[in-house]
Amino acid sequence: MRQYFLEDSRQMYIARTTFPSLTYPAISALLTEKPIDHTGIFGNQITDGARIVNFESPGNRPRLNDMIKDRNIFSRLGQIGFKTVSLDYAFQANASKAVNSTDIQAALDILNKHYFSVDQGLIQTLKSILSENDPKNWPDFIFVHLVGVDFTSHDLGPNSKEVKEYLRLLDSELASVFRVLTDAEVQKQRQIVTLLTADHGFDQDISSYFNLQEFVRHEDRGIQILNEGRYLGLKYPSYWSSEQKGAFINKIMQLSEMDIAAYREDENFFIQSKIQGTKVRYIPATCAESSFAISVMSQSPTCPENLGGSLNQLFYPFFISNLSYYFQSPGHPDAILLPRPGVSLKRGYKGQHGGPTSNEIYIPLLMRGSRLENLQRIPALWEVLRFMGR
Ligand SMILES: [Zn+2]
Repeated sequence: MRQYFLEDSRQMYIARTTFPSLTYPAISALLTEKPIDHTGIFGNQITDGARIVNFESPGNRPRLNDMIKDRNIFSRLGQIGFKTVSLDYAFQANASKAVNSTDIQAALDILNKHYFSVDQGLIQTLKSILSENDPKNWPDFIFVHLVGVDFTSHDLGPNSKEVKEYLRLLDSELASVFRVLTDAEVQKQRQIVTLLTADHGFDQDISSYFNLQEFVRHEDRGIQILNEGRYLGLKYPSYWSSEQKGAFINKIMQLSEMDIAAYREDENFFIQSKIQGTKVRYIPATCAESSFAISVMSQSPTCPENLGGSLNQLFYPFFISNLSYYFQSPGHPDAILLPRPGVSLKRGYKGQHGGPTSNEIYIPLLMRGSRLENLQRIPALWEVLRFMGR
């Protein structure tokens, strides 16, 4: 990877992902090339009335793909005659060709923690596409989603020796792919751009588990809870008053495991930490990424993507801007509860992500065949494919 992406003193870029720093919102944003308010995929789980729809279960994949149908990079490129391929078991969207999402062997391999077999299979398919076809006939866009680094980091911790070993395995597996791509590039058979990035980072190693879900359930069993591991999304029963919600948030924030609560009310959302509270107001506006601007603590309105300086670093990097999309996403929860870094709300994980910390939000971005124009700006994941076909 180092040789392929970083030779000739090229640099590794840093990009940033969505809040929540979870696979389904992040990859939806990447593929739709928009922040998460455009799709309603605001978590790995969403609600459908009283039901919870979890995109991690294969039965919900058709619905996931329906939610981004005809507004994703595959459909955009398809319209200008490009051939596209998705090597991702979850996201097929409008790809001309895709791996079989009901691949039983891949599902079993994940259950049995044979993650490398899954990734190896995907890389093998990629190799076949590239080596069995003349570069002239290659697809114009191939999307590959490898899963093993994520699973291994959950099981054994993101800083574990097993994760580093896994990366070395991937590296050697990818070497022959990079060789084929370099050959085509040297022989000027095609213009080739290769990107390698991640849908999210990981929180620091998990040091404790906290059953916040039980605490919330104890308050009122009518509260709908989306437990995403590093935060809870809540939907209050319709009979809860605004005062009751406020008192509940105050009570939650007394817990030593808590870091931040955020909630939407009318055209505002509020962020509450142990030491400070912030009010953000939505203002209708035409922004590059949204149809709203935000006014933070009654200051003059700004488009979320332009929020700069200290406001953009308040609580966590890009937190206010990311939350402004979150609380505009169709069907969004009423409130989210975030525990301190290092605390997991699901039992049995050494690594977790989904939260707003810089470890979870910032992602590496390696590029060959293209460069970032403006090094002062940290690009969002939903921007990185926009150059394609333009
Ligand atoms: Zn994960």
